[in-house]
Parts: sequence; C-alpha cells; structure tokens
Amino acid sequence: MTPPFLRERPLTACHECDLLLQPAQKKLHQIVRCPRCGYKLYQHKPGSTHNTIALALAGVVFFIPANTLPIMSMELFGQTHIDTMLTGVTRLFDNGHWWISGLVLLCSVIFPLMRLVLALLVLIPLQLGRSSRAQIEAFKLYHHLSSWSMLEVYMIGILVAIIKLANMAMISPGYGLICFTGLMLCTIGLSQTLDEHTTWDLLEKYRHD
Ligand SMILES: [Zn+2]
Repeated sequence: MTPPFLRERPLTACHECDLLLQPAQKKLHQIVRCPRCGYKLYQHKPGSTHNTIALALAGVVFFIPANTLPIMSMELFGQTHIDTMLTGVTRLFDNGHWWISGLVLLCSVIFPLMRLVLALLVLIPLQLGRSSRAQIEAFKLYHHLSSWSMLEVYMIGILVAIIKLANMAMISPGYGLICFTGLMLCTIGLSQTLDEHTTWDLLEKYRHD
C-alpha cells in the first residue's frame, strides 16, 4: 500500500542513478536534469501533439506504397527481378526461413503500422480535449512497441544488399524505396516530436471515465 505522503507528493526516479526527486513544475522550453548525475529527465517539446499527429498521418500515407511498390529491380543474366517489401517477406518464407520472414513482417511492417495508428488514436482525441482508459492502454502499447519497430535495420539491410550486388547485377532503386525512406523518417520523427511526459499529463487531465 502506498504511504499517504507518497500519494500526496508522488516522486520520480532518475533513470540513470535512481535518485528520487520531487517532480519539477514544467515550463515552456524547459530542460530538467538530475541534480546528482546530470541525466536529462525532461525536455519540453513545443507543439508536440499536433506535430506528432502530422508525422503519423504522413507515415500512414507512405505505408501502402512503401510496402507494395518496388523497392528495387535487379537485372542479372538477362532476367529482371522486381522486389517489394512484401515479396521480400514471402520469398524468405518460401525459401524455408519462416521465422526470419515472421520477424521481418512484425518489426518492419506490422509494428511500425501499429505505432502510427496508436499514435493517432491517442493524440487526435487528446488534441480535442478528450481522454479515456482506452487511450491510456493504447499509449502504453505504443510505448512498448517503440523497441520493436526496426525500419532502420531493414533499410541498412537494403543498402548493404544494393552495395554488395552492384558489381554483379544492374540494380535500380524503385519508388517503393523513396516511400520506405519517407515512412522510416516519419517513424523516427515520432520519437523526436512526441513529448511523453506532457502526453501522460494531458491523458490524466482530460480523463472522463
Ligand atoms: Zn541521476
């Protein structure tokens, strides 16, 4: 059971040195650091909610062409192979690498899409001044999925493949690669623009159920 003094004045712990601190009053453009180790505990991000909504919407727009348009075409011994993100996954599955194909499908397709959709489901009602238990659960899931969304890793894999195959075959990047890059930048941007502290505060402030 939580002691009464903690219920009245909840403390926060530094992620680096575990020092317990009274939560600071948050101000515009403020950066709060741990007084013992200097770890950045909080940084105010102006316009966080609507900037993140804009990036998530842009990411959803990029999502379908990124997965269905050709990432690259490869011409080898007179034969042309055109690969999209999804054909790459099915090819891995057909070659017997079912667990790698499942991992690529989850980390490069399903989890990034879930993050974009969850961000919109949480932030659009919040921008309208509404908060509910479902939004809180959705935001917790969004937070957990952040570690499993790995578009950057897949992008590095594509670039390594292009560099390795460049001497053996004629490689042409496709429009899917441009959309995939846009999708990756949007998902990276979500982490940069979203002010999680302020979002949690607003979810609590506007909660009606
Ligand atoms: Zn510290």
